[in-house]
Amino acid sequence: MSVDLDTIVSLAKRRGFVFPGSEIYGGLAGTYDFGPNGVELLNNLKRSWWKANVYDKENYYGLDAAMFKNPRTWEASGHVGGFSDPLAECKECNTRIRVDKELANVGVVADEKMSIEEINTLFDAHRAEIACPKCHKKNFSEARAFNLLVQSNLGDFTSDGSEPVYLPGEACQGIYLDYRNIVDTMNPKIPFGVVQIGKAFRNEIAPRNFLFRTRELEQADTQYFIRPNENKQAYEQIKQDRWNWYLAQGIREENLRWHQHENLVFYAKDAWDIEYNFPSLGFDELEGIHDRSDYDLTQHMEFSGVDLRYLDQETGEKYVPWILETSVGMGRMFLAVFADAYREDELGGEKRIYLALAPHLAPYQAAVFPLLKNKPELVDKARDVYALFKKAGVRAAFDDNGNIGKRYRRQDEIGTPFCITIDFDTLGENPELLDTVTLRHRDTGEQERVTIAEAAERLRSTIS
Ligand code: ATP
Repeated sequence: MSVDLDTIVSLAKRRGFVFPGSEIYGGLAGTYDFGPNGVELLNNLKRSWWKANVYDKENYYGLDAAMFKNPRTWEASGHVGGFSDPLAECKECNTRIRVDKELANVGVVADEKMSIEEINTLFDAHRAEIACPKCHKKNFSEARAFNLLVQSNLGDFTSDGSEPVYLPGEACQGIYLDYRNIVDTMNPKIPFGVVQIGKAFRNEIAPRNFLFRTRELEQADTQYFIRPNENKQAYEQIKQDRWNWYLAQGIREENLRWHQHENLVFYAKDAWDIEYNFPSLGFDELEGIHDRSDYDLTQHMEFSGVDLRYLDQETGEKYVPWILETSVGMGRMFLAVFADAYREDELGGEKRIYLALAPHLAPYQAAVFPLLKNKPELVDKARDVYALFKKAGVRAAFDDNGNIGKRYRRQDEIGTPFCITIDFDTLGENPELLDTVTLRHRDTGEQERVTIAEAAERLRSTIS
């Protein structure tokens, strides 16, 4: 990936995609706001993901579970006891570092299975190589396990705050909690999937790298419930589907790769990540695809006392289904798609930046311009065309601000695939060209003269 992260961050802000959270108050670390163009790209990604994982599948069900959950949820899931990262503090300037990530930066693997003692042994052996990112000294405290769950005071009326209701540490727990309800109401035949896009909150020690590591995030999860031990083929299919989905969003295959986890937690059967070549970071986790056996439902069955076994109508057996999970942060997905679409070239002797977003993801599929702003007859006709496109289901923008060249640049930078200009020929100055427009293609800058009806048809077919 040749573009650097600063360029991406600055384009995202300049063009209304992503703003730093609470900026007028000096910001709040690890939070970002999706601006007017960003929310469109984000929603288009969610729509495309939902279509692939619900509408295009059979026996997959959507869910939108409450964020606040009974605190027992996070005990059963292991988050209260074990959802922690190793934290050390710089004794010189108090900057906090995440020790496993700093070790990884110097080529040492400290995986999530290791105890804090094991991490400290590794940390001690490599202290000389790890410098504070702020003051560059190498004087750190010991690492300690820092729990990432974020607490709220919702409904906690105890004087010492001893019954905290947590914000979700991961979105997928809602699916396990509603598993019984889904089985009872939808009567799905195993294997079946439940999917959700939901918010999660993590007290990340070092939120950084833009949308890659934030404290408030959104996760798109699928949980596929299968018969015990029937995981192999289904797992391979899910891996393949997820890989192909990224390609269908326009991501270049050379920027994706697989990473298999070496040390699995005791219940896991297999775990792979799809990694993306993030700008300035290199390859890192984009999405996790995990074969989790019956761990999650067994835990909730034990803690809740509710029977979560599936009654197999065909065989009469009762068993706890195994789960194949996919989980991706929407922010990481957004960053990967946005960065992958970034292009620079030269057009008409000038340097140009454009986003080669797939048309179904671009904030606008077309922009309509009157050639001149101060000619009411051009503006009126352009407004008619704009209304016609909207009626045809095209996400269209109307822009009469500045000269045509500037308008093209603006649309290029937000990834609008087509610009349509209405000029005097459209109005019949040259009778042969009556009701024709200039259609400009984003990626090549090429222009062609087509009728309004043809332009509408072209847009419709591109979208579908
Ligand atoms: P990491 O090791 O990077 O902290 P993780 O292995 O804890 O991530 P999971 O708990 O498996 O991540 O979460 C599933 C997905 O959620 C990840 O693949 C990633 O896309 C996303 N994700 C996790 N943590 C964050 C975060 N702090 N900011 C943005 N996205 C995140």
